Amino acid sequence: MPGHAQAEPKPFFWISLKGRPQRTAPPGHDRFRGLSGWMELEIEVVSDYLYVGSGQLELHSIQGGEQACYAFARRNQGLIIPGTSLKGAIRSIVEAISNSCVRIAGRSERIRSDAHKGCEYKERDRETLCPACRLFGTTGYRGRVHFTDAVPVGEVKTEIIKIADLWPPRQIRGRKFYQNKRFQRLDLKPAKNHRFLEAVPKGARLQTTLFFENLEEEELGLLLRALGLDQHPEDPQRVIFAFPVKVGGAKPRCLGGVRFTPKRIRLLEGGPALFSALLAGESSSAAKPLLVRFLAHRELLDPEAWERFRQEARPKNEFCPMEVY
Ligand SMILES: [Zn+2]
Repeated sequence: MPGHAQAEPKPFFWISLKGRPQRTAPPGHDRFRGLSGWMELEIEVVSDYLYVGSGQLELHSIQGGEQACYAFARRNQGLIIPGTSLKGAIRSIVEAISNSCVRIAGRSERIRSDAHKGCEYKERDRETLCPACRLFGTTGYRGRVHFTDAVPVGEVKTEIIKIADLWPPRQIRGRKFYQNKRFQRLDLKPAKNHRFLEAVPKGARLQTTLFFENLEEEELGLLLRALGLDQHPEDPQRVIFAFPVKVGGAKPRCLGGVRFTPKRIRLLEGGPALFSALLAGESSSAAKPLLVRFLAHRELLDPEAWERFRQEARPKNEFCPMEVY
């Protein structure tokens, strides 16, 4: 359907692979150095819907009949976004904007660049891990960044929506990301090559905590940019939302755009003070001064990839394709 494809521009973009990742030895886990702590993040759904699959099909009553429906992820009956989903989403952006290796690739997708094949950790090798592997880990090296499962803030209700089936990409031209466009609503009549999803609508809010250990300030700067934050171009003291981050499934239908807002940040001093602080339940500090401080670091950023990502991932007031493309 070439005519159809022209009528509906594809909702994704590529960040090309170039050069080679800057690989260095990661810090060990044996002692505290750098910055450790946690960040409380609010997550707001800014695309029309968010769908994070549980892997379960459930029966729902739709237009007078029972229909199989892909259920949203839950824990103890409550909706969640698993921490692993959040980590995967943030990691893929970190990989792209820091020219790291490619670990998040579909089964059918082959990496053409040898330089970007997944890092292998060797304990005595000094040039072993790219920025993303140093942060998120790889075989033999535990990551220093972890997300808790996100849980709803207040009441979050799901809705049933219908989408046309999705097809994997046939070719790969670098790192693929989906844009933030508008969802085209379909009627709920059961139809061939369509499926029902249980999704969370725009405006829903959830919260998660990002734990980090032994990070450098430039690593926190990179992480914050992967969360969609940036310095204001004219005033570096202001923090802006640069783009929504894509989380969960059905991204080719433009689902899953979320905005991360850091609410509080707690930095722990190393050594025994860390544990006494934990035991005392010391309160965390306001986020903004620390965000400004970390965002000032651009050492790990690939400026060209970052600029392209910012332009392509910002919300576009265009419709997402409804059908196969
Ligand atoms: Zn790597």
